[in-house]
Amino acid sequence: MTHVIGVDLGGTKTAAGVVSSSGEVLLSETIPTLNRDGGEAILDATATLIAGLVERAADAGLSVSGVGIGSAGVIDAVAGSVVSATDAIRGWAGTALAAGLSARLGLVVRAVNDVHAHALGEAWLGAAAGSSSSLMVAFGTGVGGSFVLDGAPVLGHRFVGGHVGHFASPLAVFSGRPLSCVCGGSGHVEAIASGPAIYESFLRFGGSRAEATDTRGVFALAASDAHDAGAGAASAGDRTAALRAIAVGASAAGQAVGGLINILDPETVVISGGLVDAGDLWWTPMEAALRRELLAPLAAVPVVRAALGNSAAIVGAAKLVLN
Ligand SMILES: [Zn+2]
Repeated sequence: MTHVIGVDLGGTKTAAGVVSSSGEVLLSETIPTLNRDGGEAILDATATLIAGLVERAADAGLSVSGVGIGSAGVIDAVAGSVVSATDAIRGWAGTALAAGLSARLGLVVRAVNDVHAHALGEAWLGAAAGSSSSLMVAFGTGVGGSFVLDGAPVLGHRFVGGHVGHFASPLAVFSGRPLSCVCGGSGHVEAIASGPAIYESFLRFGGSRAEATDTRGVFALAASDAHDAGAGAASAGDRTAALRAIAVGASAAGQAVGGLINILDPETVVISGGLVDAGDLWWTPMEAALRRELLAPLAAVPVVRAALGNSAAIVGAAKLVLN
């Protein structure tokens, strides 16, 4: 029976696993991504990680026939190269990802962007299993997504498809001015709906850095009981700022996904990312805004939480070389 290696290469860590033809992750390992050292150093470290897993698989009597990799950045899935990447991984743009790993390992290597790999995993065995089309949108440090149609993510002509954080949101404004976005544009969904954006909103709404130092702190403040939050005027104000920041971020997220559903009409919608882990405080206003946006014939569309957790991108990447 054939086994492959699935790899999830992100800005801070790289996880890989031996995956069976039915999508079971049998052995896995994680290393830090050498995000300051350039493309060749990352390829060397990733190849060492994969070679170690191939060896462990062999010890268990399993042979490995190929490597699928989901990577941060815009990935040319035909050439297997990194078209562009943010400074989160220095020197990653231009790297011959698939060819470089293949030369080091002597195995077939296919590559795709990590969000597409994540969505493919969920479409194959996770929250959208059995659906002929699914839209996955992830809300975390950034906002990204993927539309998977008949088992293949829609990558776009230039492999840029899925940048769902970068279109206009009517909520991405403050005092009449559009908020700047990490992409260099302004007024985008990501500028109001990402995790870091919720923290920025908290500060704009008068929340104090002493009460919450990051997005997690904003959620903790919002979840705290008003009576045991210290009862001072300042902490009540901070809690109000936290609730407002989450409400506007979640509403922008839901409105954006609702609009995309109107355009694509996916069978199933999967929401993933760190903000989903924050629970109902985020999910409830997000889903309410999403449902408000839908055209009437779409009212019954299932909107579900991602199911595979951290292994989704490994499983999805493995699928690239299992067909
Ligand atoms: Zn943007």
